Amino acid sequence: MSLKDLEKRIDKALKKGQKGSAIEPVRLDRNSTFKFRCYPGVSCFTKCCRNMNIILTPYDIIRLKHRLGLSSDLFLRLYTEPELLGITGIPVARLKMLEDEGGRCPFVTKDGCQVYSDRPVCCRYYPIGLASLRQQEKHAGEEDEFFFVVKESHCKGFLEDTEWTVDSWRADQGSDYYDHMNREWMELLLRKRSFGEETEMPPRARELFFMVSTNMERFRSFVFESRFLDTYIVDGKLLRKILEDDVALMQFGFEYLKVAVFGAESDVLKLKEDILHKTVKKIIKRRKKRLRRLQRLAKGRK
Ligand code: SF4
Ligand code: SF4
Repeated sequence: MSLKDLEKRIDKALKKGQKGSAIEPVRLDRNSTFKFRCYPGVSCFTKCCRNMNIILTPYDIIRLKHRLGLSSDLFLRLYTEPELLGITGIPVARLKMLEDEGGRCPFVTKDGCQVYSDRPVCCRYYPIGLASLRQQEKHAGEEDEFFFVVKESHCKGFLEDTEWTVDSWRADQGSDYYDHMNREWMELLLRKRSFGEETEMPPRARELFFMVSTNMERFRSFVFESRFLDTYIVDGKLLRKILEDDVALMQFGFEYLKVAVFGAESDVLKLKEDILHKTVKKIIKRRKKRLRRLQRLAKGRK
Protein backbone atom coordinates (compact mmCIF):
# COMPACT_ATOMS: atom_id res chain seq x y z
CA MET A 1 0.00 0.00 0.00
CA SER A 2 1.41 3.41 -0.91
CA LEU A 3 1.63 6.27 1.61
CA LYS A 4 -1.13 8.02 -0.32
CA ASP A 5 -3.44 5.00 0.06
CA LEU A 6 -2.56 4.74 3.73
CA GLU A 7 -3.28 8.45 4.20
CA LYS A 8 -6.70 7.93 2.56
CA ARG A 9 -7.44 4.91 4.79
CA ILE A 10 -6.49 6.87 7.90
CA ASP A 11 -8.69 9.80 6.88
CA LYS A 12 -11.61 7.49 6.14
CA ALA A 13 -11.22 5.45 9.30
CA LEU A 14 -10.85 8.51 11.50
CA LYS A 15 -13.71 10.42 9.94
CA LYS A 16 -16.25 7.64 9.54
CA GLY A 17 -15.22 4.98 12.06
CA GLN A 18 -14.81 2.36 9.33
CA LYS A 19 -15.73 -1.17 10.40
CA GLY A 20 -13.22 -3.91 9.66
CA SER A 21 -10.35 -1.47 9.18
CA ALA A 22 -7.06 -2.32 10.90
CA ILE A 23 -6.88 1.35 11.80
CA GLU A 24 -8.96 2.15 14.86
CA PRO A 25 -11.15 5.20 14.23
CA VAL A 26 -9.77 6.97 17.29
CA ARG A 27 -7.45 9.89 17.18
CA LEU A 28 -4.88 9.60 19.97
CA ASP A 29 -2.70 12.23 21.55
CA ARG A 30 0.56 11.73 23.43
CA ASN A 31 -1.22 10.94 26.71
CA SER A 32 -3.80 8.53 25.31
CA THR A 33 -3.53 5.01 26.73
CA PHE A 34 -3.66 1.54 25.16
CA LYS A 35 -2.87 -2.03 26.29
CA PHE A 36 -0.23 -3.96 24.39
CA ARG A 37 2.76 -6.24 24.82
CA CYS A 38 5.01 -7.82 22.23
CA TYR A 39 7.60 -10.43 23.28
CA PRO A 40 9.22 -13.58 21.86
CA GLY A 41 6.71 -15.92 23.62
CA VAL A 42 3.62 -14.38 21.99
CA SER A 43 1.88 -16.79 19.56
CA CYS A 44 2.06 -14.35 16.62
CA PHE A 45 5.77 -13.58 17.11
CA THR A 46 7.22 -11.97 13.91
CA LYS A 47 3.93 -12.40 11.96
CA CYS A 48 3.82 -8.64 11.47
CA CYS A 49 7.26 -8.60 9.79
CA ARG A 50 5.99 -9.34 6.29
CA ASN A 51 4.35 -7.38 3.49
CA MET A 52 5.05 -4.15 5.33
CA ASN A 53 5.28 -0.87 3.44
CA ILE A 54 8.30 0.62 5.20
CA ILE A 55 9.53 3.93 3.81
CA LEU A 56 13.04 4.38 5.16
CA THR A 57 13.95 7.77 6.59
CA PRO A 58 17.51 9.10 6.13
CA TYR A 59 18.32 8.25 9.76
CA ASP A 60 16.93 4.70 9.33
CA ILE A 61 19.30 4.19 6.39
CA ILE A 62 22.34 5.49 8.26
CA ARG A 63 21.63 3.21 11.25
CA LEU A 64 20.98 0.14 9.09
CA LYS A 65 23.95 0.51 6.77
CA HIS A 66 26.29 1.02 9.76
CA ARG A 67 24.76 -2.01 11.46
CA LEU A 68 25.31 -4.15 8.36
CA GLY A 69 28.74 -2.65 7.60
CA LEU A 70 27.66 -1.63 4.08
CA SER A 71 28.12 1.46 1.94
CA SER A 72 24.90 3.37 1.18
CA ASP A 73 25.13 2.28 -2.46
CA LEU A 74 25.28 -1.39 -1.57
CA PHE A 75 22.63 -1.12 1.13
CA LEU A 76 20.24 0.61 -1.31
CA ARG A 77 20.90 -1.97 -4.00
CA LEU A 78 20.46 -5.01 -1.72
CA TYR A 79 17.61 -3.94 0.53
CA THR A 80 15.53 -1.16 -0.99
CA GLU A 81 13.46 -0.14 -3.97
CA PRO A 82 12.72 3.47 -4.98
CA GLU A 83 9.25 4.92 -4.66
CA LEU A 84 7.75 8.25 -5.74
CA LEU A 85 5.36 9.78 -3.21
CA GLY A 86 2.00 11.11 -4.37
CA ILE A 87 1.41 13.63 -7.15
CA THR A 88 4.60 15.59 -6.52
CA GLY A 89 6.75 12.48 -6.98
CA ILE A 90 9.10 13.07 -4.06
CA PRO A 91 11.56 10.14 -4.25
CA VAL A 92 12.12 7.90 -1.23
CA ALA A 93 13.57 4.44 -0.54
CA ARG A 94 11.33 1.61 0.55
CA LEU A 95 12.53 -1.52 2.37
CA LYS A 96 12.19 -4.37 -0.15
CA MET A 97 10.22 -7.34 1.18
CA LEU A 98 11.17 -10.79 -0.15
CA GLU A 99 8.29 -11.57 -2.50
CA ASP A 100 9.42 -15.13 -3.27
CA GLU A 101 9.47 -15.83 0.49
CA GLY A 102 5.89 -14.80 1.25
CA GLY A 103 6.75 -11.13 1.50
CA ARG A 104 8.90 -11.52 4.60
CA CYS A 105 11.18 -8.71 5.69
CA PRO A 106 14.83 -9.50 4.81
CA PHE A 107 15.78 -8.98 8.47
CA VAL A 108 13.33 -11.34 10.15
CA THR A 109 14.24 -14.85 11.33
CA LYS A 110 12.39 -17.23 13.63
CA ASP A 111 14.32 -15.65 16.51
CA GLY A 112 13.03 -12.17 15.69
CA CYS A 113 14.43 -9.05 14.07
CA GLN A 114 18.14 -9.35 13.28
CA VAL A 115 18.63 -5.58 13.29
CA TYR A 116 16.39 -4.95 16.32
CA SER A 117 18.41 -2.16 17.98
CA ASP A 118 18.71 -0.42 14.58
CA ARG A 119 15.22 -1.21 13.22
CA PRO A 120 13.43 1.54 11.27
CA VAL A 121 11.23 4.08 13.01
CA CYS A 122 8.11 2.61 11.36
CA CYS A 123 8.76 -0.72 13.16
CA ARG A 124 9.41 1.12 16.42
CA TYR A 125 6.00 2.80 16.29
CA TYR A 126 4.02 -0.33 15.47
CA PRO A 127 1.16 -0.83 16.50
CA ILE A 128 0.86 2.95 16.77
CA GLY A 129 0.76 5.03 13.61
CA LEU A 130 1.80 8.66 13.35
CA ALA A 131 0.03 11.11 11.05
CA SER A 132 1.13 14.66 10.33
CA LEU A 133 -1.57 17.19 9.69
CA ARG A 134 -1.33 18.70 6.28
CA GLN A 135 -0.97 22.43 6.72
CA GLN A 136 -4.26 23.34 5.07
CA GLU A 137 -6.16 21.11 7.50
CA LYS A 138 -4.61 22.46 10.63
CA HIS A 139 -6.79 24.53 12.94
CA ALA A 140 -5.48 27.13 15.39
CA GLY A 141 -4.04 25.57 18.55
CA GLU A 142 -3.94 22.06 17.07
CA GLU A 143 -0.86 19.88 17.43
CA ASP A 144 1.13 19.19 14.22
CA GLU A 145 0.64 15.47 14.54
CA PHE A 146 -1.63 12.83 15.98
CA PHE A 147 -1.54 9.08 16.49
CA PHE A 148 -3.80 6.11 15.81
CA VAL A 149 -3.79 2.39 16.59
CA VAL A 150 -3.23 -0.22 13.88
CA LYS A 151 -5.04 -3.35 15.15
CA GLU A 152 -4.37 -6.20 12.74
CA SER A 153 -6.26 -9.45 13.30
CA HIS A 154 -3.07 -11.56 13.56
CA CYS A 155 -1.61 -9.36 16.31
CA LYS A 156 -2.21 -10.87 19.76
CA GLY A 157 -0.29 -8.15 21.59
CA PHE A 158 -3.57 -6.33 22.29
CA LEU A 159 -4.75 -9.23 24.50
CA GLU A 160 -1.94 -8.51 26.94
CA ASP A 161 -2.37 -6.35 30.01
CA THR A 162 0.55 -3.92 29.90
CA GLU A 163 -0.69 -0.34 29.66
CA TRP A 164 1.13 2.42 27.83
CA THR A 165 0.58 6.04 26.96
CA VAL A 166 1.56 6.93 23.39
CA ASP A 167 4.52 8.84 24.82
CA SER A 168 5.72 6.07 27.14
CA TRP A 169 5.53 3.63 24.18
CA ARG A 170 7.53 6.00 21.98
CA ALA A 171 10.18 6.42 24.70
CA ASP A 172 10.37 2.66 25.32
CA GLN A 173 10.84 1.92 21.61
CA GLY A 174 13.24 4.81 20.96
CA SER A 175 10.89 6.30 18.36
CA ASP A 176 11.00 9.69 20.08
CA TYR A 177 14.76 9.87 19.37
CA TYR A 178 14.20 8.79 15.76
CA ASP A 179 11.48 11.45 15.42
CA HIS A 180 13.95 14.03 16.67
CA MET A 181 16.44 12.91 14.02
CA ASN A 182 13.83 12.81 11.25
CA ARG A 183 11.86 15.97 12.09
CA GLU A 184 13.55 18.29 9.59
CA TRP A 185 13.16 15.71 6.83
CA MET A 186 9.48 15.20 7.61
CA GLU A 187 9.03 18.95 7.41
CA LEU A 188 10.64 18.93 3.97
CA LEU A 189 8.16 16.25 2.86
CA LEU A 190 5.33 18.49 4.03
CA ARG A 191 6.77 21.39 2.07
CA LYS A 192 5.80 19.53 -1.09
CA ARG A 193 3.01 22.08 -1.53
CA SER A 194 5.62 24.66 -2.49
CA PHE A 195 5.72 22.91 -5.89
CA GLY A 196 1.97 23.42 -6.24
CA GLU A 197 -0.64 20.76 -5.46
CA GLU A 198 -0.65 19.31 -8.95
CA THR A 199 2.99 19.88 -9.84
CA GLU A 200 5.70 17.25 -9.91
CA MET A 201 9.03 17.92 -8.26
CA PRO A 202 11.47 19.00 -11.02
CA PRO A 203 13.96 16.23 -12.01
CA ARG A 204 17.09 17.97 -10.63
CA ALA A 205 15.35 18.69 -7.31
CA ARG A 206 14.24 15.07 -7.20
CA GLU A 207 17.82 13.88 -7.73
CA LEU A 208 19.19 16.11 -4.94
CA PHE A 209 16.40 15.13 -2.55
CA PHE A 210 17.02 11.42 -3.11
CA MET A 211 20.79 11.76 -2.72
CA VAL A 212 20.53 13.62 0.60
CA SER A 213 17.78 11.30 1.86
CA THR A 214 19.54 8.03 1.09
CA ASN A 215 23.24 8.24 0.33
CA MET A 216 25.71 9.97 2.63
CA GLU A 217 28.82 8.90 0.70
CA ARG A 218 27.49 10.44 -2.50
CA PHE A 219 26.37 13.60 -0.74
CA ARG A 220 29.80 13.91 0.92
CA SER A 221 31.52 13.68 -2.49
CA PHE A 222 29.05 16.24 -3.84
CA VAL A 223 29.95 18.69 -1.04
CA PHE A 224 33.73 18.21 -1.14
CA GLU A 225 34.45 17.25 -4.74
CA SER A 226 32.07 19.37 -6.83
CA ARG A 227 31.75 23.19 -7.09
CA PHE A 228 29.56 23.17 -3.97
CA LEU A 229 32.07 25.09 -1.82
CA ASP A 230 32.55 27.67 -4.60
CA THR A 231 28.81 28.33 -4.37
CA TYR A 232 28.04 28.27 -0.63
CA ILE A 233 29.67 29.69 2.50
CA VAL A 234 29.89 27.03 5.21
CA ASP A 235 31.63 27.30 8.59
CA GLY A 236 35.02 25.49 8.60
CA LYS A 237 34.34 23.69 11.88
CA LEU A 238 31.11 22.28 10.49
CA LEU A 239 32.88 21.19 7.31
CA ARG A 240 35.44 19.24 9.34
CA LYS A 241 32.59 17.58 11.24
CA ILE A 242 30.57 16.51 8.20
CA LEU A 243 33.69 15.08 6.61
CA GLU A 244 33.62 12.32 9.27
CA ASP A 245 30.15 12.18 10.73
CA ASP A 246 27.16 10.81 8.74
CA VAL A 247 24.50 12.13 11.12
CA ALA A 248 25.95 15.66 11.08
CA LEU A 249 26.15 15.42 7.27
CA MET A 250 22.51 14.31 7.10
CA GLN A 251 21.43 17.32 9.20
CA PHE A 252 23.52 19.60 6.99
CA GLY A 253 21.83 17.97 3.98
CA PHE A 254 18.38 18.95 5.27
CA GLU A 255 19.56 22.58 5.46
CA TYR A 256 20.95 22.31 1.92
CA LEU A 257 17.63 20.94 0.59
CA LYS A 258 15.76 23.77 2.31
CA VAL A 259 17.86 26.29 0.38
CA ALA A 260 18.50 24.56 -2.95
CA VAL A 261 15.21 22.72 -3.49
CA PHE A 262 12.65 24.68 -1.50
CA GLY A 263 14.09 28.20 -1.82
CA ALA A 264 14.14 28.86 1.95
CA GLU A 265 16.88 30.54 4.00
CA SER A 266 19.32 28.75 6.27
CA ASP A 267 21.67 29.88 9.06
CA VAL A 268 24.03 27.04 8.20
CA LEU A 269 24.85 27.69 4.55
CA LYS A 270 24.55 30.82 2.45
CA LEU A 271 25.01 31.51 -1.24
CA LYS A 272 28.22 33.49 -1.91
CA GLU A 273 27.55 37.16 -2.84
CA ASP A 274 28.63 36.89 -6.50
CA ILE A 275 26.60 33.68 -6.96
CA LEU A 276 23.63 35.33 -5.24
CA HIS A 277 23.79 38.31 -7.68
CA LYS A 278 24.03 35.98 -10.66
CA THR A 279 21.09 33.91 -9.37
CA VAL A 280 18.93 36.99 -8.76
CA LYS A 281 19.78 38.30 -12.28
CA LYS A 282 18.83 34.91 -13.79
CA ILE A 283 15.51 34.86 -11.92
CA ILE A 284 14.67 38.43 -13.03
CA LYS A 285 15.58 37.58 -16.64
CA ARG A 286 13.42 34.43 -16.53
CA ARG A 287 10.47 36.33 -15.07
CA LYS A 288 10.74 39.12 -17.67
CA LYS A 289 10.81 36.52 -20.43
CA ARG A 290 7.71 34.84 -19.02
CA LEU A 291 5.94 38.20 -18.71
CA ARG A 292 6.74 39.04 -22.35
CA ARG A 293 5.40 35.65 -23.44
CA LEU A 294 2.18 36.18 -21.50
CA GLN A 295 1.79 39.68 -22.99
CA ARG A 296 2.25 38.28 -26.51
CA LEU A 297 -0.34 35.59 -25.80
CA ALA A 298 -2.78 38.16 -24.41
CA LYS A 299 -2.34 40.35 -27.54
CA GLY A 300 -2.89 37.36 -29.81
CA ARG A 301 -6.23 36.66 -28.13
CA LYS A 302 -7.56 40.22 -28.63
S1 SF4 B 1 13.12 -4.43 10.29
FE1 SF4 B 1 12.87 -5.88 11.95
S2 SF4 B 1 11.05 -5.19 13.05
FE2 SF4 B 1 11.02 -4.20 11.05
S3 SF4 B 1 9.79 -5.51 9.73
FE3 SF4 B 1 11.93 -6.12 9.48
S4 SF4 B 1 12.26 -7.77 10.95
FE4 SF4 B 1 10.38 -6.72 11.53
S1 SF4 C 1 1.92 -9.39 15.52
FE1 SF4 C 1 1.83 -7.92 17.24
S2 SF4 C 1 2.30 -9.07 19.11
FE2 SF4 C 1 2.80 -10.37 17.33
S3 SF4 C 1 4.98 -10.02 17.07
FE3 SF4 C 1 3.95 -8.54 15.74
S4 SF4 C 1 3.67 -6.70 16.98
FE4 SF4 C 1 4.24 -8.37 18.37
